[in-house]
Amino acid sequence: MPTFDEARNLILQNVSPLPFESTDLLGAVGRVLAEDVVSPWDLPYCNNSAMDGYAVRMEDCAGGAPLRLTGYVPAGGTPPGPLEPGCAIKIMTGAPLPAGCEAVLPLEHAEEVDGTVRAVAKITPKQNMRFAGEDVRKGEVAIPAGTLIRPGEINMLASCGVASVKVNRVPRVTILSTGDELTDIGEPLTPGKVVNSNSVSLGAAVKEAGGVPLLLGIARDNVEDHRAKMREGLKGDVFITSAGVSKGDRDFVRLVLAELGVREIFTGVKVRPGSPTAFFMHGATPVFCLPGNPVAALLMFDEFVRPALRKLMGYTKVFKPTVRAVLERDLNKKPGNVQLVRVRLEFGEGKPRAASAGNQNTAILSTMLKANGVAVLPAEATHFSPGDEIEVHSIAGGTELLQ
Ligand code: AMP
Ligand code: MG
Repeated sequence: MPTFDEARNLILQNVSPLPFESTDLLGAVGRVLAEDVVSPWDLPYCNNSAMDGYAVRMEDCAGGAPLRLTGYVPAGGTPPGPLEPGCAIKIMTGAPLPAGCEAVLPLEHAEEVDGTVRAVAKITPKQNMRFAGEDVRKGEVAIPAGTLIRPGEINMLASCGVASVKVNRVPRVTILSTGDELTDIGEPLTPGKVVNSNSVSLGAAVKEAGGVPLLLGIARDNVEDHRAKMREGLKGDVFITSAGVSKGDRDFVRLVLAELGVREIFTGVKVRPGSPTAFFMHGATPVFCLPGNPVAALLMFDEFVRPALRKLMGYTKVFKPTVRAVLERDLNKKPGNVQLVRVRLEFGEGKPRAASAGNQNTAILSTMLKANGVAVLPAEATHFSPGDEIEVHSIAGGTELLQ
């Protein structure tokens, strides 16, 4: 049985980025750029003015004498010619600077009278001038492959004249819940029945991670139903099942997957909660078999499925940032497994502080709602005291600072 870290590595070793597709710029938001984008020109394209004002030469302004106005350049216009000694050219923001310009005197620092202009404030060389290529040089990589495309990247792409880009395809993630005890959301509950809440919570986690969830409903505890629905599931780019993966006599997930020809990578991980988690490959499709317990299923999603989804989507950083936090109260654990503890992180002066978010029994879902991180306690450790530093991972919907 792999350790927690071995399991995470095995998953990433088996998963490769999805093929590329082209999309227009608005379709690219929130996706990952699949190839370097090189600027075909300098940005800014040419030297231009950062203010509405007057293009001037430094030595002409030294004595405070009026300068003769010899032209006007509106935005989108071209300078009438070079700036001659003793002269100024009126210029608007963004307009190309005339040759010879050494500074732009803003309108509000100038006095214009009868075709002349005079500086009424101190002027420094190069003030309010923007220079060609000072943002990005022609031929330079403006955005490297693997970058998440946000509105700023969209602007850069447009500025480079790029109207469509290559991005990794968004993974379609099939989700199947298993179990005879499950009822659909909204149906009345009777003792022994459980609402199928995992399909939709895992679907939400997939969506938040940037994938497209496809909910396949419930497979009942018999081989035929498992077989039919798992065949559908294996058509996804990623297939997630919930429950039925332990060693109970009604746990058909592994049996049917084997029959359908999937390759087992591991069954069981040295982590609590979540130890029954299994991972398979079917061709290029990763198959995650998560435990039925809703808390364990979500924690396993964060630790195992989300990094895989990010790799499929082309991210180069597949793990979200972790924080080192200072523990506020004692924590005990048994040796042998990594222990995941739902914690509340507080950010303030100094290092973040972590405290248990509540009852850690996996049957207590509400502790998940109070948590904004999960502490990952090393396998061999047994006791943590207040003041000890622990590692905390992001959870789905967790604190913004961990995003
Ligand atoms: P299992 O992994 O089949 O032993 O299930 C463990 C626990 O998770 C049981 O209490 C199940 O009732 C519960 N469970 C299983 N599947 C779901 C589901 N789809 N939604 C919510 N709870 C579930
Ligand atoms: Mg079951």
